[in-house]
Amino acid sequence: MKTNAKVVIITGGAGGIGLATARRFARDGAVVVIADLHAAAAESAAADAQRAGAPEALGLACDVSKQSDVEATVARTLERFGRLDVVVNNAGLMIFRPLPEVTAEDWTRLLGVDLLGAFFFIQQAFRHMQPGGSIVNVSSIHAVETTPLVAPYATAKAALLSLTRSAAIEGTPRGLRVNAVLPGAIDTPMLWNNPNVKSGAERIDPATVGKPEDVAEVIVFLASDAARFVQGAAIRIDGGRLSRL
Ligand code: NAD
Repeated sequence: MKTNAKVVIITGGAGGIGLATARRFARDGAVVVIADLHAAAAESAAADAQRAGAPEALGLACDVSKQSDVEATVARTLERFGRLDVVVNNAGLMIFRPLPEVTAEDWTRLLGVDLLGAFFFIQQAFRHMQPGGSIVNVSSIHAVETTPLVAPYATAKAALLSLTRSAAIEGTPRGLRVNAVLPGAIDTPMLWNNPNVKSGAERIDPATVGKPEDVAEVIVFLASDAARFVQGAAIRIDGGRLSRL
């Protein structure tokens, strides 16, 4: 059991990739904390993780874009379980708008969740994790190739890779690892509600649509001690979508 007994916080863990990741950690016997916008959804995901094998699980309401919520989530985790071993920065949202119509508020909202949220958790993790701790940031293939209408999202996901590098460098002397995954098209509501996908502007080949579980496997590996020499990496999980000319 690679992550047995580790205490893991998963942001945006109430659905999609986050929930699949929670279940995968739970199967290894990890203690799971779900941090998501609404308490009821977070608690229900925590109950799900316990059914999947987590010895203990906790669901907490947390808006990752609010520093005080992030601090409270980490404080509750430490209070209840005495330590923190893994953070998965998975919470994210997309905004679809052509550049001439993108507002300052759009940028602030999106960067607040997709970038600053990860920063707030990294900062807390650096303050409270013991050596051996691990952080996994969920970026996107939009960090390297993108479509129209999603400039703030693509920017935030690219910046998250940069933040991953900086955090890996500062994490090394502390014994903390920080890595990122770049999912491609993953079968979640976020994919099918994407207006670019609905309109056909972004073509999805069914052969390169992955499952949330495909991403969860890699996240759990990166968080585990088996990945102890993997530091500052950015791993594409897209079924080869970006490899094709
Ligand atoms: P999803 O919409 O199913 O899940 C996102 C979760 O984040 C939800 O539970 C939502 O409530 C939560 N969330 C949103 N804002 C939050 C906030 N401010 N604070 C706390 N939680 C918040 O999406 P998903 O497809 O599972 O996406 C998970 C991550 O994977 C995101 O970061 C997304 O950008 C990334 N991603 C998804 C795909 C895909 O094809 N689905 C591809 C590449 C990257």
